[in-house]
Amino acid sequence: LEFKVSLKELNTFGVEAKAYGLSRIKAESDLIEVFKFLRAEKLRHITLGGGSNVLFIGNFPGWILKNEILGKEVVSENEEFVELAVGSGENWHEFVLWCLEKGFYGLENLSLIPGSVGAAPIQNIGAYGVEVKELITNVEGYDLQGKRCSFDNRECQFGYRESVFKLKMLDQFFITRVTFRLYKQSQLRLEYGPVQRELEKLGLENHTPKDVSKVVIQIRQSKLPDPKEVGNAGSFFKNPVIEKNLFLDLVEHYPEIPHYPTEDDERVKVPAGWLIEKAGWKGRRMGDAGVHENQALVLVNLNRVSGTQIRELSEKIQQDILIKFGISLMPEVRMV
Ligand SMILES: Cc1cc2nc3c(=O)[nH]c(=O)nc-3n(C[C@H](O)[C@H](O)[C@H](O)COP(=O)(O)OP(=O)(O)OC[C@H]3O[C@@H](n4cnc5c(N)ncnc54)[C@H](O)[C@@H]3O)c2cc1C
Repeated sequence: LEFKVSLKELNTFGVEAKAYGLSRIKAESDLIEVFKFLRAEKLRHITLGGGSNVLFIGNFPGWILKNEILGKEVVSENEEFVELAVGSGENWHEFVLWCLEKGFYGLENLSLIPGSVGAAPIQNIGAYGVEVKELITNVEGYDLQGKRCSFDNRECQFGYRESVFKLKMLDQFFITRVTFRLYKQSQLRLEYGPVQRELEKLGLENHTPKDVSKVVIQIRQSKLPDPKEVGNAGSFFKNPVIEKNLFLDLVEHYPEIPHYPTEDDERVKVPAGWLIEKAGWKGRRMGDAGVHENQALVLVNLNRVSGTQIRELSEKIQQDILIKFGISLMPEVRMV
């Protein structure tokens, strides 16, 4: 295989890696053609949207399907709701802003998350108290045989940073369209403390979804590195969900440990960023791989890091957290 395509500009970590080939998918017909070709050549492939949740740990001996399917369509609406079918290659944040301009609400807490609309259901993106699964009604796409399939919300099997597309159907299904059901009247979700506090600082009587979006953008810009300046893929690890007994042991040593309830009474979610910071990793570096100085959950490319160096750093952190707290951290970022 001759590796012809550089992926450096196609992943937000900005690591250099090459792929055998690449096709830009602008329409469903492109996809059907490419799948025929991949079957004939017996080539592996992966789909890329914005490349903001992947780490290339070497050259990729297969084909990249770069998703560029655009389009937004109102499928139905009444006084309360609007249903929108959106091309999976649309930029997520631009789509959120477009909705706010149109008066379609619900996605404002998810402002400024990098990436594409089609990747949103893959790991059920979430931030500031909202998960996208609450607003998705349908996900459409094609399997490798070129057969069109559609999944309703339940069939997507959404969980915390999970879905059927990330687990059982990984690389088996190309999402072309996502349908959202959004509100026509504002339904503010302010459970997350910092959003509420920043809104109070604005000093307004009635807050709008646009205010929430503005505040979320401010908070994110103050805490998270911009991938255009410092390569990263957001949170590198998922927040671990641990047994209550282990949590009670930890509280004895660390009474200040933050924690959140889960649907299961016997389990508690703790912030991975807190554990990593407590273990002394915040701001540390190993070669060109670093732990961000403001947010310990984010690993960064400090110059010309390779994917392997980032992976090595992540493994060191995992070992240390296991020794210090008895907790296994699972990566959120997909390593390819
Ligand atoms: C600074 C920063 C902040 C972030 N903050 C958050 C956050 O708050 N919450 C959160 O949940 N995530 C966050 N992320 C992670 C990331 O933005 C999301 O996971 C996003 O949905 C990834 O979109 P993408 O298009 O870049 O996906 P990619 O990285 O291109 O792909 C991710 C995975 O989805 C698959 N995939 C992508 N598109 C398709 C498709 N059309 N069909 C089938 N499979 C597909 C890929 O093969 C890959 O396995 C952050 C990332 C960064 C860099």
